Amino acid sequence: MTSTALPTTDELRARARGGLQNIGVDVAEGNDFHARTPITGENLLGLTAATDADTEEAIAAARTAFLTWRTTPAPRRGELVRRLGELLREHKSDLADLVTIEAGKIRSEALGEIQEMIDICDFAVGLSRQLYGRTIASERPGHRLAETWHPLGVVGVISAFNFPAAVWSWNTAIALVCGDTVVWKPSELTPLTSLACDHLLARAAEEVGAPRDVHRLVLGDRAIGEKLVDDARVALVSATGSTRMGREVGPRVAARFGRSLLELGGNNAAIVAPSADLDLAIQGIVFAAAGTAGQRCTTLRRLIVHRDIAGTLIERLTAAYHKLPIGNPFDDTTLVGPLISTTALDAMRSALTRVQAQGGKVLAGGNRRLTEAAPSAAYTEPVLVRVDEQTDVVREETFAPILYVLTYDTLDEAIALHNDVPQGLSSSIFTRDQQEAEIFLSAAGSDCGIANVNIGTSGAEIGGAFGGEKDTGGGRESGSDAWKAYMRAATNTINYSSELALAQGVSFL
Ligand code: NAD
Repeated sequence: MTSTALPTTDELRARARGGLQNIGVDVAEGNDFHARTPITGENLLGLTAATDADTEEAIAAARTAFLTWRTTPAPRRGELVRRLGELLREHKSDLADLVTIEAGKIRSEALGEIQEMIDICDFAVGLSRQLYGRTIASERPGHRLAETWHPLGVVGVISAFNFPAAVWSWNTAIALVCGDTVVWKPSELTPLTSLACDHLLARAAEEVGAPRDVHRLVLGDRAIGEKLVDDARVALVSATGSTRMGREVGPRVAARFGRSLLELGGNNAAIVAPSADLDLAIQGIVFAAAGTAGQRCTTLRRLIVHRDIAGTLIERLTAAYHKLPIGNPFDDTTLVGPLISTTALDAMRSALTRVQAQGGKVLAGGNRRLTEAAPSAAYTEPVLVRVDEQTDVVREETFAPILYVLTYDTLDEAIALHNDVPQGLSSSIFTRDQQEAEIFLSAAGSDCGIANVNIGTSGAEIGGAFGGEKDTGGGRESGSDAWKAYMRAATNTINYSSELALAQGVSFL
């Protein structure tokens, strides 16, 4: 199905300008690069990129701001994030518009992304009174051993196009309450959304009396990101994007003994066991595989189905795929918007060609859509492909809506297939058998950072830590105790006796 006609680029430009105006952003137009929209595949506005000197100045300013911010009491730092959360609530619709215009997300997912930002602000405000250290039993009389958490420094946030606002907020809300300052290099594909976020934070800072430079935005391509990566004043580089990017960033930051937090690609799978509730499983699978046009790091890319139910499941999934409304992401009936670019579509087609050459059989979807209405855009039907084994293309992340369907006979075999990919982000099992579910969640089960039961691989809540293992980079962001990555721990030994007792019974003098 194709949903209603697409808006024109002029209409989208006007809508973007309107949203930016409501938020209060005065865009400095330029000729360095363009904001564009995947809805029509055309340019919206010319923008100015940060120069090396601008980036240098932003890092220096964030470092200076850190020197006062780190001693501001954490609950007062929380006031800044509370105000940011209020402004996000106020401008939820304008921000969601920008996310739809620049990333192509359907309206309900774009609104969901802004809600996620509001949620992480609430979480961070609470956290600002809970940056707990520990008291540890000392082996010496009259001594106290403690662990204290201190702010770390400037955090360089490098983010991807597909969560142009939420990933920034996961990092920034937590970093700010932890006493860090932030320099943000967003994706070059989503500059308008980042201008809006930066503006709202600057407004919040002004209103609560926080230094303006607790947050700085630097627009531009990867070369600007590389400046953050190589600068010793950037204590933590939190980088979200492809595994290719992480492979470059991780070693460079490590070479200067900086810290990195890497949130990279996924190749997420769901196991569907014979006892699964198929109605629920199908809803979970279709949302996880086709939602966001397959452009989430947690998108479901591999389905591992028990042989006894494979026929029924495939039949029902194929029917569901044929009914997916594809098109204008602003239309409330659309479920699948555009891919980010025709380059992404080319990568999808190339993966499909390769998998077919390796024996894969397309079961549904895969055709390009809206080619006449928007020749520069990349609309596609999500595609289901039956494969007999995990060939090299199946083991890669293709950032597009391709779902590979495999079958299994025993749970051990399913788990082995599940884990036999380089990435380790998100995973799930659909089963009503408690033993199977527990095995999947156990140390011998899924090797991912996220493991779910009876729900798909995507759509995590902010309360848990988010991230994955292996080629996904090992980082954890968002909830739980992910905040510890944004702070440094100091161990304190306090002697309140009148004796100098040395540890391990050592005597000296
Ligand atoms: P990308 O790797 O092309 O770019 C991500 C960001 O890194 C951009 O801001 C880019 O300019 C910057 N960058 C690229 N190379 C760099 C380098 N050498 N040094 C410094 N900065 C560099 O990714 P993308 O296409 O924008 O996003 C899609 C990818 O991101 C997918 O692989 C997806 O799985 C992943 N992703 C992961 C998570 C997660 O939390 N694990 C979340 C969202 C997206």
